[in-house]
Amino acid sequence: MSVLFPPLNTARSEPALRFGDRFLTYGELRDVAGALAHRLRKLPGKSPRVAVWATPSPETAVATVAALLAGIPAVPINPKIGERELTHIVSDSAPALVLAEPGATLPSGLDTVRREDVTLEGTAASLPEEPDEESPALIIYTSGTTGPPKGVVLPRRAIASTMDALADAWQWTADDVLVHGLPLFHVHGLILGTLGPLRLGGSVRHVGRFSPEAIAAELATGATMMFGVPTMYHRLADEVERDPKLADALRGARLLVSGSAALPVHDHERITAATGQRIVERYGMTETLMNTSVRADGERRPGTVGLPLRGVELRLVDEKGDPIEVWDGETVGEIEVRGPNLFTEYLNRPDATAEAFHDGWFRTGDMAVRDPDGYVRIVGRKATDLIKSGGYKIGAGEIENALLEHPGVAEVAVTGEPDSDLGERIVAWVVPRGTPPSERELADHVARLLTPHKRPRVVRYLDALPRNDMGKVMKRALHG
Ligand code: ATP
Ligand code: MG
Repeated sequence: MSVLFPPLNTARSEPALRFGDRFLTYGELRDVAGALAHRLRKLPGKSPRVAVWATPSPETAVATVAALLAGIPAVPINPKIGERELTHIVSDSAPALVLAEPGATLPSGLDTVRREDVTLEGTAASLPEEPDEESPALIIYTSGTTGPPKGVVLPRRAIASTMDALADAWQWTADDVLVHGLPLFHVHGLILGTLGPLRLGGSVRHVGRFSPEAIAAELATGATMMFGVPTMYHRLADEVERDPKLADALRGARLLVSGSAALPVHDHERITAATGQRIVERYGMTETLMNTSVRADGERRPGTVGLPLRGVELRLVDEKGDPIEVWDGETVGEIEVRGPNLFTEYLNRPDATAEAFHDGWFRTGDMAVRDPDGYVRIVGRKATDLIKSGGYKIGAGEIENALLEHPGVAEVAVTGEPDSDLGERIVAWVVPRGTPPSERELADHVARLLTPHKRPRVVRYLDALPRNDMGKVMKRALHG
């Protein structure tokens, strides 16, 4: 019996997963994942773990579901991982086995780990009994945006509760067909984008490498929802302005969801102008799964991540750690959360785990304001996006959004760097569109839209911003 995936308890013939032209019905998934789960249960050792070589494939989905059915914690690994990170993850998580797609070439860093190829064959008369909801289900490494990735131990309870809260917020049901091209080794693509539909009874179509055309083709043939990160919506914004057929495909979707990083207001507005769609933004972390979202039936206001999800408590605290009671859309505080969506601990890092909590609340490291109606607006990360300049505390995100409205700016990241007069000066790292606008012009643009003290003092031009595999800007790489 599966508690986590109720649809797997009956051999249904509806589609569950599709990757390109390969697909599995619920009945087939129950058979192949069930059979593998029974084998995983025989792994020796007191509490073995398995690594999953997380290519975007049905094998990755089957391996992960099998581990969850067996109650063996799974560690998804980025197939493009570098040597150093792999060595760290293997020694940190000590997997007994690595499950991989047949034919996948594994790097030498995994030589010490026994390999088992996942086939899409097998039958299972019954499913194993799943362990209790506090037992570890997945160990997911953070994106490494602000430092080396940390292994986040997620209990079954967090996965179930976050999915159920999203089903509530998005009116997500078994009738939904989700399309995306997200990697399967982070929360977004794996938990929300793969396990989510399987818990709720809907289906997922993975397009492999993201492209606007592939997404549009699925939306034109029955997909109802799309998940993406802001870099994908940026590309979609460019394409829908050029291609009316693509705009039509997006217009027909029930729900377009963005997360993993802030969706620039400008890209959101361009998509709305071309398609009539307003994107639903949600905010989460590996440690907390999902915290807030705009609701499907709520107001979709660009630049906000909506309201705390059902069961999630959220507060803002000031520098002393005292709760901020006013919802004035202006007072910035750090987001702290509490609820059934939280992780158990960082693997092998009791100090980091203890430090991450404040009176039982998890410190997210993200700074935000709350609008009078409770909507959360993220200002940025405490560590990299809050610039202290000339006695002001300035959020990088607001300046980035303003700069993106300039026709000569394709992409931008704003940071602070030490300045003898100002404490920190505002630096804009700009990927230009066409002829680069002058430093002066961009400074005047920001001064006009926002206020003069928010204007960049220095503009540096780049061909591309340093981004990780989720398209997140690695600000720590900008200053070298
Ligand atoms: P690391 O913790 O290793 O530095 P990371 O924080 O990027 O990496 P994740 O757990 O994948 O790793 O990402 C969570 C973070 O992503 C959040 O703390 C927040 O800063 C950002 N984020 C997620 N969704 C949104 C959103 N909708 N708007 C703004 N920021 C978001
Ligand atoms: Mg983080």
